[in-house]
Amino acid sequence: ANIERRPHVLVFPFPAQGHMIPLLDLTHTLACHGLSLTVLTTPQNQSLLDPLLHKASTEGLSIQALIIPLPPTEGLPPGCENLAQIPLHLFFLLMHSFKELAHPIEHWFQQQKNSDYGFGPPVCMISDFFLGWTYDTATKLGIPRIVFHPCGAFDAFLHYSLWKYMPGLMESDDDKVHFPELPHPVSFAKHQISSLGQLYKRSDPVSEFIRYSMNLNVKSWGNLINTFNDLEAVYMDHLHRVSGRPVWSVGPLFPPAVFDPKQRRTMIERGKPTTINESVFLQWLDSRGEKSVIYICFGSQACLSNKQVEEMAAGLEATEESFIWVIRDPPSGMPADEYGVLPQGFEDRMEGRGLIIRGWAPQLLILSHPSVGGFLSHCGWNSTLESITLGVPLITWPMAADQYYNARLLVEYLKVGVRFCEGATTVPDRDDWRIAVKRLLAREGEEMKRAEELSKAARIAVQEGGTSYRNIEAFVSEIKKLFLQAS
Ligand code: UDP
Repeated sequence: ANIERRPHVLVFPFPAQGHMIPLLDLTHTLACHGLSLTVLTTPQNQSLLDPLLHKASTEGLSIQALIIPLPPTEGLPPGCENLAQIPLHLFFLLMHSFKELAHPIEHWFQQQKNSDYGFGPPVCMISDFFLGWTYDTATKLGIPRIVFHPCGAFDAFLHYSLWKYMPGLMESDDDKVHFPELPHPVSFAKHQISSLGQLYKRSDPVSEFIRYSMNLNVKSWGNLINTFNDLEAVYMDHLHRVSGRPVWSVGPLFPPAVFDPKQRRTMIERGKPTTINESVFLQWLDSRGEKSVIYICFGSQACLSNKQVEEMAAGLEATEESFIWVIRDPPSGMPADEYGVLPQGFEDRMEGRGLIIRGWAPQLLILSHPSVGGFLSHCGWNSTLESITLGVPLITWPMAADQYYNARLLVEYLKVGVRFCEGATTVPDRDDWRIAVKRLLAREGEEMKRAEELSKAARIAVQEGGTSYRNIEAFVSEIKKLFLQAS
């Protein structure tokens, strides 16, 4: 049976939309390069995997699922297996609970070793950077563990630095956290530090476990990062120097259709089915002028309070630009009438000029349309990378997690973003909105030009011969070497 086998990789994504989407895209890419892959997840997250499994079966790719239930954890509501299902204060507990999968993984690995059927034992494990502890599991099994960073290299480095110097770094006397070891001085206000850093409590065992786990990332065999060379070469080189481990930029990780102009006018599902009629929607976009529409969306989790919505609506009324605004319902447990309610008559007054999408938008379709000229975003890394790749400059409103880091990268270092607002509960200022929109849509504006340059660079990176393409080839050839050694 061995003769027919291909190098087999175990993939372990962290179950949050923004983490799973790019790692599943990478899984698809690696399968196209001739690897077999097993994706591990829990029953509740299985549906996130289904589109990939379906694609694999129609394309004849070697991808299978390994579904292992998560044992109940004290303190976590039963059945909580995804970041989207829990409040922030339970975040560490959820991360910690996944450690319970270590034994079942070992058991499964032994079964693979002893069987003549199936993919055979994996030669390495690729797991999300929130699952640093898998380094210990992989080491026990005698296989290398590779970290997958669903974020950019700047963020990956800040995390590296934060956990290396935790808790000292967060305990400085002033309100600022100064990150050491970067190629240039970087500091953030304490409230801007990723939620992980803020949740840490000294001598709390769960916090200590998270610190231990995050620090294992840097010991791992190598790093795969969803970025590309022309975007973050400085930080990638730096991470490589400091960690002493290989760093492969493999992004932007998207479904191949995004890079194919012929296919781009069809809905490409990201995470969930969209809630609009595609042809009516495209007709509307087609009727707008080139780069004239602002797209507004805050990712898969953030939702605006009525006060924020009201001010945003006033800002949109005061400018003349067309817009698409995605309004998300509040997660269960939050009062529905306090979030996402538009001022009376707003939709009627904006008819023809603005489109409201309640639910899930076809973000890639929108960003790739020539009428879209700007994106007001919370700066989640996927949205950031999607916008850059599709040549759309951003207006930044970071709210949580790594979004403050990404916004800094966009505005100050890459110069492809304009600052607008900050903070999950901050009420934006309608005048700031006017200023940001005017600046962004200015034809001669720096951000618009940078977006075009970076978009070209992103496409070249993933084409045959491009840096990310070559990095994927280099990574695959390392895996093939491991396979030959093991056979
Ligand atoms: N997304 C989408 N439609 C929506 C909202 C989000 O397709 O209405 C996709 C978006 O394209 C991106 C992901 O969901 O790929 C959101 O990830 P991001 O890292 O930007 O933010 P998060 O949801 O993790 O805060």
